[in-house]
Amino acid sequence: MSLSPERLQRFARHIVLPEVGGAGQVGLAEAHVVLVGCGGIGSPALQYLAAAGIGRLTLIDDDTVDVSNLQRQTIYTPSDIGKPKAEAAAEWVRRFDLGLEVLPTVTRLGGDNAAEILSGASVVLDGCDNFATRLLVSDSCVKLGIPLTSGAVGRFQGQVANFAGHLPEQPCYRCFVGDAFDAQDCDTCAADGVLGAMVGMVGTFAAMHAMRVLLEGKAALGVPQYGTLHLIDGMAPSLRPLRIAKDPGCRTCGTAAPVQADLPS
Ligand SMILES: [Zn+2]
Repeated sequence: MSLSPERLQRFARHIVLPEVGGAGQVGLAEAHVVLVGCGGIGSPALQYLAAAGIGRLTLIDDDTVDVSNLQRQTIYTPSDIGKPKAEAAAEWVRRFDLGLEVLPTVTRLGGDNAAEILSGASVVLDGCDNFATRLLVSDSCVKLGIPLTSGAVGRFQGQVANFAGHLPEQPCYRCFVGDAFDAQDCDTCAADGVLGAMVGMVGTFAAMHAMRVLLEGKAALGVPQYGTLHLIDGMAPSLRPLRIAKDPGCRTCGTAAPVQADLPS
């Protein structure tokens, strides 16, 4: 792929960075990012992924825009209230850059459709609001061999990490949280509250983390830091990295994991 003069101009501030460069920008244009959740984390993440020229974006959300979302979900306006988030988010992308391919998917990810929807992604960025979906997305990524960027936030605490549980030495998201949360479906934002700018930090940090994955082997920024969880404390404020160990007993990526038997060798 080569970039047109117009695209070269649009992404000039990336291309001039030695850590991205022309090869990196082409890599971003050739990438397919699947965004799970077009809410507080997904919304700012989408803005920076689209701005970065990610060639293909799949947007997954089964929710509709509510007036209380506007405090932090920056791509929506009052005229979007009541619309499916995935559709409204896709409209935002089309207004922003007609050079990107955007595929809105108004559905809830489940065991029956996850593999089909996620397969072919260069990276999956998960900014959804519940553990059941997070674990499903992570398990699917391990099975499909797709890297995962995970972003989560509660009140003033944020977490961002890249996972590559399909690789022998790397942990997956389940190694981090365990099996206890599979059945839980907890949207804590409504009950606990969340600061809008806090999800903005987590979403943009996650977008940059996804870019690190996409640029691996293509540009100097491409150091994914798989298995390092970045804890963002919005109250302190501070940022702290935490190394997650691979759990040999993990039922998704561990040595005894049944799912490994299904993987092509
Ligand atoms: Zn694991």
